[in-house]
Amino acid sequence: MSNHHQVIIIGSGPAGFTAALYSSRANLDVVVFEGQQPGGQLTITTEVENYPGFEHGIQGPEMMEVFRKQAQRFGAKSIYETISKVNFSNRPFKVWSEKGEYTADSVIISTGATAKLLGTKGEDTYWGGGISACATCDGFFFRGEKIFVVGGGDTAMEEANFLARFGESVTVVHRRSEFRASKIMVDRAKANPKINFILDSEIEEYLGEKSTTGMNKLTSVRLKNLITGETSVHAAGGVFVAIGHKPNTEIFNGIIDMNEVGYINTIGKSTYTNVAGVFACGDAQDSVYRQAITAAGSGCSAAIDAERWLEEQVGH
Ligand code: NDP
Repeated sequence: MSNHHQVIIIGSGPAGFTAALYSSRANLDVVVFEGQQPGGQLTITTEVENYPGFEHGIQGPEMMEVFRKQAQRFGAKSIYETISKVNFSNRPFKVWSEKGEYTADSVIISTGATAKLLGTKGEDTYWGGGISACATCDGFFFRGEKIFVVGGGDTAMEEANFLARFGESVTVVHRRSEFRASKIMVDRAKANPKINFILDSEIEEYLGEKSTTGMNKLTSVRLKNLITGETSVHAAGGVFVAIGHKPNTEIFNGIIDMNEVGYINTIGKSTYTNVAGVFACGDAQDSVYRQAITAAGSGCSAAIDAERWLEEQVGH
């Protein structure tokens, strides 16, 4: 395969593969750099119930396999490498992975977002030894344990419900008494007899047993009530942090315009960035909707924008 392509897509979630599907069907030479998490965030979720067209729902990993195959049917190719550096100051644009340099006439950024962590004392020490940010990935390991979930959004509610299948109990710790999550998700969690809530509170410290040979093991958490200032220690076999996401846009710092928290700014209703020929879609540029269907929709827009822009530049 040549190292030059008409369209390079960076990121392999619903936005990236929809962009790949549309671009390859427009008869463009397209490659998708799949990155560190091929298929994106949906590969670490369970059932997707709200993607139109799947009346009875579909498992996230399976859905992304379908996305990939549909794009490949029209000639899009996947490269299982991670882009770590870009240079968009001249054309052709240059991008670099661990394997080398690639060039492109146009680039579509669909790098998505990653789960945020608390940064609380002990998080590094017990990471992977009881602390996780992905219930779907790690829930299975916490059978019969007292599990804590941090956060008050839809993700926290969804993870609490999922983890209740495995844990002896699930305690949702949220820093306020109001939930950001939708009412239906909160009601579902409240109706689950294994789930309880500790509100107006945060984890002040993760506590456990340190090991000199193997993995450190989390055994409890110290919680702090943010209204009274009181602290209390609770036995905990696992903590799942579910406090939102951060866009994966560091490699574009200083090159592509972003907002103050790193979401890429696109122009008007288009997917144009500040660099002509570079387009952005999906969770890397959408801090508001962040759904698979909206990501896919913006991936389609990016492909159409790129195709029209290429047509204006060079013809194809
Ligand atoms: P959100 O940003 O919606 O919620 C994050 C939660 O974490 C908030 O309750 C927030 O508290 C809390 N939080 C943030 N930072 C901290 C911190 N440092 N310490 C303690 N708590 C913190 O993120 P989600 O991941 O829950 O959801 C993202 C989007 O995905 C939403 O649009 C959501 O609707 C959607 N989603 C939909 C699902 C579905 O429909 N099935 C499932 C999962 C997600 P506070 O409220 O005080 O700010």
